[in-house]
Amino acid sequence: MEVTHIEHIGIAVKHIDEAIKFYEGVLGLKCYATEEVRSQKTKTAFFMVGQTKIELLESLEPQSAIDRFIDAKGEGVHHIAFSVNNLKDSLKEAETKGVQLIDKDPRPGAENMNIAFIHPKSTKGVLIEFCEKKEQTL
Ligand code: ZN
Repeated sequence: MEVTHIEHIGIAVKHIDEAIKFYEGVLGLKCYATEEVRSQKTKTAFFMVGQTKIELLESLEPQSAIDRFIDAKGEGVHHIAFSVNNLKDSLKEAETKGVQLIDKDPRPGAENMNIAFIHPKSTKGVLIEFCEKKEQTL
C-alpha cells in the first residue's frame, strides 16, 4: 500500500455556514468549494491548508451517518482521509491483513475522488477514509 499524504480531515458540524465563518473569520482560510454529496446525504465545504484539506460535513437528512455521529458524540473530528495510490488494491491489501472494511469497493465521494472507509474497530478508534483522484476521462 502506498499512502502519499493526508488528503483531508473530515469534521462533523451542525451548521456548516456558522462553521465556515470560524474557518474564514478566525483562521483566515478560504472556503474554495461547497458540494452536496447526495449518496452520503451531506453538504461539504472545503478549505486548503498546505496540501491537506479541511472537509466540513453537515447532514442533509435525519439518520444520515453524520447526523447519527453528532447525536452520539457531538460535533467534532469525524474521519481522517489518506490519499493512496491504487485504492482498489489498497482495500484488498488491508482486507488480507485482517482489517475490517466498511466499503469493500471504492465509491464516488466529493472533489472528484473515489473513496472507501475502514472500520474504526480496526484502527484504534479512528474512522479512516482512503481516497484516490478519479482517472481523467478525456
Ligand atoms: Zn472525507
